Amino acid sequence: MRCPGLIRVQAPGVSFHALRHDGGIVLLDSGFIGGLSLLARSLKRAGWDALPITGIILTHGHLDHILNAGRLAAETGAWIAAPRLDAAHYAGSPAYHGLSRVTGFLETIGRPLLGFRTFTPDRWIDDGDELDIWDGLRAVHLPGHTAGHTGYFCERHRLLFSADLFASYPGFSHLPPEIFNADGAAIPTSIARALALEPAGVLPNHGDGAAPEVHLSRLVALAKRRGLA
Ligand SMILES: [Zn+2]
Repeated sequence: MRCPGLIRVQAPGVSFHALRHDGGIVLLDSGFIGGLSLLARSLKRAGWDALPITGIILTHGHLDHILNAGRLAAETGAWIAAPRLDAAHYAGSPAYHGLSRVTGFLETIGRPLLGFRTFTPDRWIDDGDELDIWDGLRAVHLPGHTAGHTGYFCERHRLLFSADLFASYPGFSHLPPEIFNADGAAIPTSIARALALEPAGVLPNHGDGAAPEVHLSRLVALAKRRGLA
């Protein structure tokens, strides 16, 4: 699968993506600790370092995806588009319940320590929204990990940016651990929804640098193991 105009900013913990759009760059998530220097390095390697960052699209409100969004937007003037149902996360006051209170606790410590800047998105994302970005992206609500957790599907490449629907590594692909999930019971339905799109490839945020087709085959295998496909 060849997708020109797409860079994967690979980090050990959480990766994110940069898309060429209209003479600039739109980010899909904003990375975590060290994310901005990794981004600068990736853009330089691709020869994109002179291009302006014009927009940031978010997949969900967890700190490892939104940490740099407010700061980047303030520095570059980029707009932010983000799932409406995770609004409290961007304001720095998400409510966590059950096991995911562990995540809430970690984020409460992490926000001031890591210099998180709260922000209000310029555009709210809802299920089915079409974004005229890159080769076209459609918001696909895949709830469970968070209430607003959203993937973005590019029809033209049949590529799904699957965010934290699953984590993809050779030999140990898995669902997100329960301490990170708002409603883990909803994730199987979201996986079924993702596979029903019949993607040719998927790109998760937690995974190795494998090709989208390989990530997809791991997701299908995971779904089969769980009796979902
Ligand atoms: Zn997450």
